Amino acid sequence: MANIGFIGLGNMGLPMAINLVKAEHSLKVFDTVPTQLDKAAAEGMTTCLFAGQVCEDADIVITMLPNGEIVRKVFEEIVPTCAAGTTIIDSSTIDVSSAKAIHIQAADADLGCIDAPVSGGVGGAEAGTLTFMVGGPKKAFDQAHPFLEIMGGKIVHCGDGGAGQSAKICNNMLLGISMIGACEAFILAEKLGLDQQALFDVVSTASGSCWSVNTYCPVPGVGPKSPADNDYKPGFAAALMLKDLNLSQQAADESELATPMGKHATDIYNEMVEAGGGDTDFSGVIKHLADMKRK
Ligand code: NAD
Repeated sequence: MANIGFIGLGNMGLPMAINLVKAEHSLKVFDTVPTQLDKAAAEGMTTCLFAGQVCEDADIVITMLPNGEIVRKVFEEIVPTCAAGTTIIDSSTIDVSSAKAIHIQAADADLGCIDAPVSGGVGGAEAGTLTFMVGGPKKAFDQAHPFLEIMGGKIVHCGDGGAGQSAKICNNMLLGISMIGACEAFILAEKLGLDQQALFDVVSTASGSCWSVNTYCPVPGVGPKSPADNDYKPGFAAALMLKDLNLSQQAADESELATPMGKHATDIYNEMVEAGGGDTDFSGVIKHLADMKRK
């Protein structure tokens, strides 16, 4: 049984923490929202009054927070409190620069650290089947691995500090672009009088095949069951796709790279979210695209 500190008990963090409790680990937890602490207490976790308190006696500390600014602030508080040898796992999705900064901070204090963002959503967090994309030293990765295994189904060590966040935003930039491409193909097919099922039957086994078509087809009634068959309820909300696309563009800026398709996808999701579609599944961008007029 390990002593685990857990900070950030939101939609993702709480079910992840519950899986650690189910595996008979002892959890001290903190969140700024008291109702989240009440839910954690009901699951047998010990609640704390501030972030630093979760680190007392902790072998592992896990953070699952909204953004890089908050993660940096929380690290300011927890790094001086952790005993040397503690390993910190940041599973939040944050910008690559912040991820690299917290790695330096942890290493300076003799702490292990990995950035370990996830994919799989709330369903994956509840089922313990998340995919972890991990950056950081091999020693910290090995120390974290048994705990990641409880919360996840697939764990990939991508490289040095920041590599997990880099993998996550590159994947999601590609996903955002490919979903828009898939939607455009199906909308054009409809206008041309081509049956959308016929297009699926061709594309899903041809050179245009991709996850956005084969597994997550944005057209209701076509392909395997997806959010399109459930009135575009997420799934993966457009607001979260926009967050990840913005992170990809921040990284592209810092790398002085154009990524024109990534930029265009960011603009399109931004329009969708501004029009009130943030809570819609990201494949619902098909409706937004269908309404756009050719300039
Ligand atoms: P959430 O907003 O539901 O949860 C974040 C939690 O952090 C909240 O409970 C909030 O009160 C708490 N918090 C905020 N500031 C804090 C602080 N200073 N100290 C302690 N607690 C604080 O978000 P979520 O959906 O659980 O996502 C968490 C992270 O996982 C985000 O970075 C998100 O991008 C990423 N992510 C989410 C999903 C998803 O489907 N929801 C999927 C993959 C990755």
